[in-house]
Amino acid sequence: MGNRKSNIIYADHSATTPVHPQVIEEMQRVMTDVWGNASSVHQIGRSAKVELEMARERIAGSINAARNETFFTSGGTESDNFALRGFAEAFRSKGKHIITSKAEHHAVLHTCEALEKNGYSVTYLEVNEHGMVNPGDVKAAITDETILISIMHANNEIGAINPIGEIGALAHKHDIPFHTDAVQTFGKLSIDVKELNVDALSVSGHKIYGPKGIGFLYVNRNLDIIPQLTGGAQERNLRAGTENLPAIMGLAKAVELSMEKRESESERLRNLQHQLEAGLTEQISGTTVHGHPEKRIPGLTHIGFDNVDGESLVMNLDMRGIAVSSGSACSSGSVNPSHGLMAMGYEPDRAKSAIRISLGRSNTEEDIPVLVEAIKEEVARVRSAGENRNQTKKEKVVHA
Ligand SMILES: *Cc1c(COP(=O)(O)O)cnc(C)c1O
Repeated sequence: MGNRKSNIIYADHSATTPVHPQVIEEMQRVMTDVWGNASSVHQIGRSAKVELEMARERIAGSINAARNETFFTSGGTESDNFALRGFAEAFRSKGKHIITSKAEHHAVLHTCEALEKNGYSVTYLEVNEHGMVNPGDVKAAITDETILISIMHANNEIGAINPIGEIGALAHKHDIPFHTDAVQTFGKLSIDVKELNVDALSVSGHKIYGPKGIGFLYVNRNLDIIPQLTGGAQERNLRAGTENLPAIMGLAKAVELSMEKRESESERLRNLQHQLEAGLTEQISGTTVHGHPEKRIPGLTHIGFDNVDGESLVMNLDMRGIAVSSGSACSSGSVNPSHGLMAMGYEPDRAKSAIRISLGRSNTEEDIPVLVEAIKEEVARVRSAGENRNQTKKEKVVHA
């Protein structure tokens, strides 16, 4: 893949993924040959419409949804906004209470905060130390006013997989629409919206080796949802704007490729993850793997090193051509540990000592010893730099 041209090891697949060559090929074909407007009545437009609906059919099928339940959006963020705001508006006459968790992605959290300013009340559930939501807490939070529950399928920082089937069943027992952000799990875990009792589900193209700026939202056809983009009649009048057909066809190709190899690839990533975690914990003292031993996204390792600043470690690794992400910053440049880790009860120091390594298709077994060796060396370097600093500080105190 493109990212391996240099000697870079890319291990940050939870942030984004390299675009699969077949996706690029498909997008190029569509931009060249299928440039019509899918709303036009002439032949050029109709051929675009045919492709659009074929893509929709394939994507809907991948989660056991129907074609008329699948809406193209500009990505995970828009899908989350569409679901939350769209349901909140549709059901406002029934009540104004929403349940979510403290470990959600900002696309959900900041949208909930915006809804609070509009008169809704939101319960932000605690998560356990593994980052998981307890269905019992969801149940306890439900009131007669509750109109929406939104709990992510898996957390993007620590990789915690939530029991969304159980939460969905609970929501349905109380007739409450249930949304889940599945951006981190699509293509990795099996997703059947009927089985999981999900009414709305968000997916993003660029997290599954597809293009950026495209995604989809599944919406149960029996539920009302209010459009958040108004204009033309595209997407069954629910999301206006000429469809981005090249990106949609690229997304459909990415979905198809993800489905073909989902189980074997997840298995492969789990194996690599275990090798990596074993190597790091055996070779580096003061190392802790965070999250649930099993209920984590395949390939995602969130790991802390005592007396190490995670940000420094990420930068040192970057200079060696290894791309991982800091385990704690909510956004680059931020000095505070992320809201998610705080919700999991991490002490700021512990949170700041962590990095997130997310393996994906571009990684092979050969990468593992290289990663372990590089991390071992850089952890030692960061630790000794820290000790020197402390030493100097102490000396200063003595001399003062
Ligand atoms: C990346 C991500 C998003 C945002 O998706 P975009 O397509 O980048 O807008 C939302 N939720 C989760 C869990 C994510 O990991």
